[in-house]
Amino acid sequence: MSSNLFAEIVFPVPLRKVFSYRIPEALEGLVSTGMRCSVSFGRRQTVGIVAGFTSQAPNYSRGIKPLDSLLDTEPSLTPDLLELGKWMADYYYCSLGEAYFAMLPTGYRKNPRAFLYLTSQGLDHPQSVEEVLAKLGPFRGINVERLKGGKVPLTARTRPLAEALKQESLGALRLAGASDNPQVKKTARPGGEVALPLLHAQQEMALKAVLDPLNLSTFQTFLLHGVTGSGKTEVYLRAISEVLVKGKQAIVLIPEIALTPQTVERFTGRFGDRVAVLHSRLSTGQRTYEWQRIALGQAKVAVGARSALFAPTRNLGLIVVDEEHESSYKQEDSPRYHARDAAIKRAQINKAVALLGSATPSLESVQNARSGKYTFLSMPERVNRRPLPRIKVVDLKREWQVRGEDRPVLTLALEEAIRETLDKEGQALLFLNRRGFSTLTLCMKCGDQVHCPHCSIPVTLHRNPSMRSAYSGQAGLLCHYCNWTGPIPEKCAACKDGPIQQVGLGTEKVEEELKAKFPKARIARMDLDTTRKAGSHGEILDRFRRRQTDLLVGTQMIAKGHDFPGVTLVGIVGADVGLALPDFRASERVFQLLVQVAGRAGRAEKEGTIYLQTFHPEHASIVSAVRHDTQGFWERELELRKDLEYPPFCKLGLLIYRAKDEKKAHEAAEKAGEILRKDAGKYGVRVVGPAPAGIFKLRGHYRFQVLLKAAKPQAIRQLLQSLDSRLETPAGVFRAVDLDPQTML
Ligand code: ADP
Ligand code: ZN
Repeated sequence: MSSNLFAEIVFPVPLRKVFSYRIPEALEGLVSTGMRCSVSFGRRQTVGIVAGFTSQAPNYSRGIKPLDSLLDTEPSLTPDLLELGKWMADYYYCSLGEAYFAMLPTGYRKNPRAFLYLTSQGLDHPQSVEEVLAKLGPFRGINVERLKGGKVPLTARTRPLAEALKQESLGALRLAGASDNPQVKKTARPGGEVALPLLHAQQEMALKAVLDPLNLSTFQTFLLHGVTGSGKTEVYLRAISEVLVKGKQAIVLIPEIALTPQTVERFTGRFGDRVAVLHSRLSTGQRTYEWQRIALGQAKVAVGARSALFAPTRNLGLIVVDEEHESSYKQEDSPRYHARDAAIKRAQINKAVALLGSATPSLESVQNARSGKYTFLSMPERVNRRPLPRIKVVDLKREWQVRGEDRPVLTLALEEAIRETLDKEGQALLFLNRRGFSTLTLCMKCGDQVHCPHCSIPVTLHRNPSMRSAYSGQAGLLCHYCNWTGPIPEKCAACKDGPIQQVGLGTEKVEEELKAKFPKARIARMDLDTTRKAGSHGEILDRFRRRQTDLLVGTQMIAKGHDFPGVTLVGIVGADVGLALPDFRASERVFQLLVQVAGRAGRAEKEGTIYLQTFHPEHASIVSAVRHDTQGFWERELELRKDLEYPPFCKLGLLIYRAKDEKKAHEAAEKAGEILRKDAGKYGVRVVGPAPAGIFKLRGHYRFQVLLKAAKPQAIRQLLQSLDSRLETPAGVFRAVDLDPQTML
């Protein structure tokens, strides 16, 4: 019997097409969409994913190759993920292969020579491998003895065994995916028995609204705007409980930096072993194990960062996106998907509920709530009616004038407040969204700044131990974009004369200043540099929560989602970081960050106070944050966005052309711009640029950008398609397409 069916396979490459392979007779009937397989592609044996079938024999010059073996007995990608992948490829203008592979855990993406394991994990009536094999009897060409180790590749030769296993040992053994190593270390998750707090009225209302579509299994998206400390997490937990009662599964997305052991514990504390945790700090084996538990239905709640969105649930009822405004939900390489928006799409495919929560929602979501696309839920008060903390503004311009040459890190007011807090045995957070010691290194004569040799970015001085050892006891310079390090130059490179000096402020310098001023206080710092080691993130937070630290200095890492009952003082050392960035979201980002940091104070019985140091006390973002005036901020910012034609009032597509050779990158961008402009009117797109990108040079590549603006995303897609049908990006030039870009740099 010969088949007329060919499998259409996709690969994680930016080619927007499928590749046909012959299905060998022996694998007929076993292949289905969403399965991984091993095939030869180009010159390599590699992993592909079956995207579909065709009866049309392809016309390949070198003939059609066979599908060599299957790496799955059940599709790795569920039907809803397959559909979501198609949407992603379409919407984000990437290849189907890039989208599908982005959904798989890393352990599933490589190793075409992987084996399948015989395992009884997750089955109702497990038997040993030996028992089942004995019952099945001998198979020609297969050394059953060797299978007792549990490894078998699914190829033409082993098909009879696979079939027999499917039929006869149902419920006893299964062939599981190649990376499904049953040997992986399991984490016990005690929990599940806690006294539930009585919901306050606003929580009741929010929960009730969410339960309606959950009970009816209809799709709906909610935007839960709850001030910091209003009890949003409790609403998520109750909604998840209901989902579990219905026998369905839930996914909870949390931004990577807020995904601490403490945060995870709130979920495992309630649901115990029914929780699977997916984050980037897990080993490949652990990640695969958690993934399998979800696929098998053992785990009901998947908690994780961005990519947990692709957890292989079979019966999805709810997706929660906590801190929905976080820009880290956007993946910054292809496929450049936004996890919040893809989550909403996945909920829609599954007739499930999407619940977005934030104290500072993105303006996109606010506008979607206003237009009725999302249902708006509001919790304007803190739990137990605790007041929002008072914010005192300290004008740095005035302080600097008064104190002359002595440019202080801490104003007298903030210093005094810290002293008082320490006297009363309280705790304080000191926030500055800039790591390192000094942020500018410049010549005192000509003003020339020291830049990274590979990026058009000023370098930051770091004094941490690893830097000191690299530069014989001296501090070193670091590029925050490419991690280039170098020593401090003795003389200015530009005028060859002037002395070099350090200005600007980072968290290391704040820490040093605190140590000098408060020698008895226990001080810790949390930023990218102190949290590189696995587990250190959770440890710093744990010590602070247990009050073994008095003062915690940190970047945005300390701003998000944490609940520190002992904190009565928050010092915002520099509120202006980020205000001047050439990005239309700069004001929004600063506002969100200030509100989030301020929200860390006064969450328990004691009231909290914030000192906010700024050079721009009159700036609208700062004024709104100080007044806790979220509505006012939205009104004003939406008005501005409308006038300037920026999201949420249009869709953006950003094209970046980069090359080592500046001229090549420039020419490619110019040529594309010309063609785009010719067609733009036809599709209703506005073309802005090309222009040098905000970060003109990055990791040795020169970058030019073209911005596309349209009312609908389809218009941008169609214009790009027409561009790609006419123009190929030249060799040596790389083009990135970013739909709904979160950064304009
Ligand atoms: P948010 O996520 O909105 O900032 P959380 O969910 O962290 O707020 O809640 C703040 C604190 O209040 C947490 O310690 C939480 O356990 C507690 N909490 C939440 N809801 C209630 C409630 N109804 N009664 C008492 N305490 C609550
Ligand atoms: Zn660099």
